[in-house]
Amino acid sequence: MIANLSEIGHKDCGLEGFPLEYLIPVTSRDSIPGEYLGTPIESLLGYHNLGYPLKTYKHAELLIGMCMDYRKHLHIPDNFAYVLRTGGGNLRYSEFKLSYAIAIGGVKAIVLIGHDNCGMVNLMSKKEKFIKGLVENAGWEQSRAEEHFMHFVPMFEIGNEVDFVISEAKRLRLKYPKILVAPMFYGMADKQLYLLKE
Ligand SMILES: [Zn+2]
Repeated sequence: MIANLSEIGHKDCGLEGFPLEYLIPVTSRDSIPGEYLGTPIESLLGYHNLGYPLKTYKHAELLIGMCMDYRKHLHIPDNFAYVLRTGGGNLRYSEFKLSYAIAIGGVKAIVLIGHDNCGMVNLMSKKEKFIKGLVENAGWEQSRAEEHFMHFVPMFEIGNEVDFVISEAKRLRLKYPKILVAPMFYGMADKQLYLLKE
């Protein structure tokens, strides 16, 4: 098993050029800040990182926003959380669903999970491949594929994985002041959740 990212450093973890100093490893209950203890945020970290026994839930307590990337899987019990998966974990266009989970579903906390090596970073570098792919795989006209790409890039580009979830967490705290919002990070190398220094 791979040690946590902060111990192994950039060389071995595949996070080259990544700001490891922003990641807080969660290796015991003591590493979780007091404001999160006793909340669904502690439960998520406990289930995924710390081997907490899976409890039985009747209703979701948490909403998790995470990237649609297929390389990630969370270890959580049934009925524990709404999970919204989007490109880059971007919830800017999912707000009605968020509001629904809060208003009707009664969730009290939101976790936003970014990850390294995310496809929604530097989208412009993928322009040619994207257009070619839509033309070849979906049967689109070249011009329509190009227009489609250019129209959506500004909405879906996240810039940087860490800064994005931190700024999104701040935005959602202002929008839903009674809801606890925590930005997190999923390490692709060790499959662990990290908290982020804000
Ligand atoms: Zn991603």
